[in-house]
Amino acid sequence: MTSPLFDLSGKVAIVTGGNGGIGLGMARGLAEAGADIAIVGRNEAKSDAAVDDIRQRGAKAISVVADVTDKPAVEAMAELVARELGRIDILVNNAGINIRKPPQALDIEEWDRVIRTNLTSAFLCSQAVYPAMKAAGGGKIFNIGSMMSIFGASFAPAYAASKGGIVQFTRSCAVAWAADNIQANAVLPGWIDTDLTRRARQEIEGHKVLARTPAARWGASADFAGIAVFLASRASAFVTGTAIPVDGGFSVMG
Ligand code: NDP
Repeated sequence: MTSPLFDLSGKVAIVTGGNGGIGLGMARGLAEAGADIAIVGRNEAKSDAAVDDIRQRGAKAISVVADVTDKPAVEAMAELVARELGRIDILVNNAGINIRKPPQALDIEEWDRVIRTNLTSAFLCSQAVYPAMKAAGGGKIFNIGSMMSIFGASFAPAYAASKGGIVQFTRSCAVAWAADNIQANAVLPGWIDTDLTRRARQEIEGHKVLARTPAARWGASADFAGIAVFLASRASAFVTGTAIPVDGGFSVMG
């Protein structure tokens, strides 16, 4: 039985990009703690598979096909979740992309695409769920940053800008919405084995990551279940505005 501190029975969570990788790892954790889940992504087949996976864990789950950079689509997504699952308690802003190029080679369309997907989407989704959370007397928002919220990277200028921005956006929401009993936090993953990092694993960073990570392994999506449950639950009632690394020690290695 889940400890009452971490029990999410009766709660509803939206996980953007929840159809794979880190988002699915978080969605599974939230479902196993009792929450019902809305998986938001563009790839319907991948989302349907994730919904089946979540349902097998005993939770109610729905797929919402939406592009999180599109304001009307995000507003419709929030309305659909509230209608189908009855409420919105938890929002995980996890959808993200990278375009691997140095600053001199990145064009403006690519810059905009990364910023809109990784940063503007969190603004749009948070704004869309705020009225439901406020009306319900509270809520939990967590935004997925990166080691590039802290460090720079020659191959990821827009990505690093978006991930630095997400930490400051998180802090602003934490301050703005504390009186509404909404806690907003950021999670900063280290190097995690997902579709997003497939190219990096095959290139030189694959070796560098292992040498640079005290835990001496790539993270797995399952490593994100625990932090998701903590940040979504009563256990984190006085935790807001933080940026918590889940990185096997990457950010503290000198
Ligand atoms: P994945 O590529 O596995 O997942 C990214 C998810 O984002 C997909 O589910 C994708 O779904 C969704 N997505 C992308 N664009 C959109 C969009 N416009 N609208 C809706 N959904 C979208 O990568 P990860 O699991 O690795 O990444 C998840 C988060 O973690 C990202 O924010 C990433 O930056 C961050 N992160 C990852 C690290 C890693 O090492 N893997 C390290 C640090 C941070 P679909 O294609 O269906 O739209």
